[in-house]
Amino acid sequence: MVKSSNLGYPRIGEKREWKKALEQFWEGKLKEEEFVVKTDEIRLRHLKKQSDAGIDLIPVGDFSLYDHVLDTAAMFGVVPKRFGHGGGKVSLQTYYGMARGTGDAVASTMTKWFNTNYHYIVPELEGAMPSLADNPPLRYFKEAKEQLGIIGKPVLLGPVTFVKLSKGYDPEEFGSVVDGFVPLYASILKELEEAGAEWVQIDEPVLCTDLTEDEWTVLEQVYDTLIKAAPGIKVILQTYFDRVSRYERVVRLPVHGIGLDLVHDGGGNRQALTTHGFPDDKVLAAGIIDGRNIWRADLERTLSSLKELEGVVSKDRLIIQPSSSLLHVPVTVKVEEGLGERLKRTLSFADEKLQEIVTVTEAVKEGRPSISNELKESYDGLDNIEQSRTLRESEQLAANEVLQRAPFSERRVVQESELGLPLFPTTTIGSFPQTKEVRKERLKWRRGDVSDQDYRTFIQEEIAKWIDIQEKIGLDVLVHGEFERTDMVEYFGEKLGGFAFTKNGWVQSYGSRCVKPPIIHGDVCFQEPMTVDETVFAQSLTEKPVKGMLTGPITIVNWSFVRTDIPRYDVANQIALALRKEVEALEANGIRMIQVDEPALREGMPLQKEKRAGYLDAAVHAFKLATSSVKSSTQIHTHMCYSEFGEIIESIKALDADVISIETSRSHGNLIHSFEENTYSQGIGLGVYDIHSPRVPTLEEMTRNIERAIRVLDPQLFWINPDCGLKTRGPNETIEALVVMVEAAKKMRETV
Ligand code: GLN
Ligand code: ZN
Repeated sequence: MVKSSNLGYPRIGEKREWKKALEQFWEGKLKEEEFVVKTDEIRLRHLKKQSDAGIDLIPVGDFSLYDHVLDTAAMFGVVPKRFGHGGGKVSLQTYYGMARGTGDAVASTMTKWFNTNYHYIVPELEGAMPSLADNPPLRYFKEAKEQLGIIGKPVLLGPVTFVKLSKGYDPEEFGSVVDGFVPLYASILKELEEAGAEWVQIDEPVLCTDLTEDEWTVLEQVYDTLIKAAPGIKVILQTYFDRVSRYERVVRLPVHGIGLDLVHDGGGNRQALTTHGFPDDKVLAAGIIDGRNIWRADLERTLSSLKELEGVVSKDRLIIQPSSSLLHVPVTVKVEEGLGERLKRTLSFADEKLQEIVTVTEAVKEGRPSISNELKESYDGLDNIEQSRTLRESEQLAANEVLQRAPFSERRVVQESELGLPLFPTTTIGSFPQTKEVRKERLKWRRGDVSDQDYRTFIQEEIAKWIDIQEKIGLDVLVHGEFERTDMVEYFGEKLGGFAFTKNGWVQSYGSRCVKPPIIHGDVCFQEPMTVDETVFAQSLTEKPVKGMLTGPITIVNWSFVRTDIPRYDVANQIALALRKEVEALEANGIRMIQVDEPALREGMPLQKEKRAGYLDAAVHAFKLATSSVKSSTQIHTHMCYSEFGEIIESIKALDADVISIETSRSHGNLIHSFEENTYSQGIGLGVYDIHSPRVPTLEEMTRNIERAIRVLDPQLFWINPDCGLKTRGPNETIEALVVMVEAAKKMRETV
């Protein structure tokens, strides 16, 4: 009969108790035994919650002490040499060493998990001799069975995805590298089979990306082998975050079930199901409750969409589940206060989603066309929200307006004469150190312990202090320092209309680090100037130009939970129009340079190549909507935090910013390479030092970076700046590094 299932549950806990336990352990406030007891408790509590909710197939092994990709690497003994792991089970110390670095060894890199804001630790396969020192899926399976009587569904990260996400091997050797892991997966499955596991979920989200023919062949062979290894176990091959790229091939794989995302597939999976059908010897694990967003499901719509699948797959071969792990949504709406009843009723976090899954499963089981009470409730919410959700007509019009500034060559001349900057102008990316005092003062103000006026004065003092510091260092373009901002999205969200903020809506970003994305629930609109006060104040203190500092529309969208009743791009355009008003207000108040940051531009990139052009075009459109109405003399800057530019360079050009600053330190070579192949002929600053480390780089290092960059970039258009904002650095190291940076610029001016 139809079953309910879950793919993964948030680790952090209702009150972020998981995060707190981790951090206490790292600080030495919890002994290892105490820490283990605590996290065991949390894990079991989460299993119990899912079982109480009535979920049939409860995931086990999805819980992690940091990250599930790191867990997989550790399980196979894949530990980089520098951590001195001597074989056998990886200790907790080594595990966290890989994640966070040790005194002697740098941490493994971390990177985004597909198109989410979750980061995983990149496994390093160089010299790896995979072995199975430990079988955590088995341990977790037994634990759930023995302690709670739950027959869990172990979750494994599949071998193909695991190797694809790893580094340190020759892509030509992909097949043999994967083969090295297959026997280990086979023994895990065998042991699970012996222990009485019935279902196993193997995640292969790479099936939603473009795989090569060779990779496909590898995948097919792998599953052929694995299925034979443990014939008594039903393997669900789980995909998520998009449609599978080769549906017909996926459903032919020799597994028992296929898990498809029916929410974030752009309709592709559903269409494939109805066009090509579904094999009648397999189970369809239908991801119909949104695992990535926080809106309550319209249960009637969900049911009728399931009805469409009735002819494709029979009820007894159907599993109802979220579209992906619930790792990407907060824990529960229950604890939210101060959101307003109306909005609250439209929300569904992990716990509420479990309820939705069970409700839908029951309805399908009993053949009911509707679920009266639950349905009514969900309708109430939807009704309310719909009222605030019509795109204003005039704004819609503006959103379609194509905006084009005068050509860069003309703007450049005007800007050069108005701004009078030296060759190799120096600047920073926006933020200066957010010291404890700054954060403390803001907290006091938020609590109402400090008056608006006193807080404003405090911020102005910080600004004045840092304008003075920047003058003394000799920077050419100054910034106000962003002391008034906690977070670059939250700050704007709080000032724009259409946003709401939860008290406890945390989502894991990496390790113990959690983010609390704002909720965009209504039309976004400009209400009042957001940055003019601070920027104009800063400008009043100096003759040098002060750069205004805004967060771009795509970054705001990518770091928020976004309403789904209108296209995402419309939301981005609404934000862009609101930001345009801010840009114009800054300009009208004498600000001559405005930076619109888009650090998250790449994050929203669709997994499949064919969809990327559409995304990038929309992103460029929104950016230009925000930035193109200014005079030729107003210089538009932008900033991005990564250096994989090859693929998006045409879009970067299309942004038509007068100056772009890019982070480079972590892969300088690649970036330089992409400029060898593509000319870039507008203002550009490749970060000349890494801000992630407190180390003050030498003059030689910085000069070398600059020299390397101007081999492929026009020195006349080259800017000198750090990699990113300096918010997380201490004041002293910041000043010392900037002094060296200005010195490097001076030296370059003499030599070129
Ligand atoms: N202007 C922002 C800052 O300096 C940019 C941050 C970012 O790129 N993530 O902090
Ligand atoms: Zn950055």
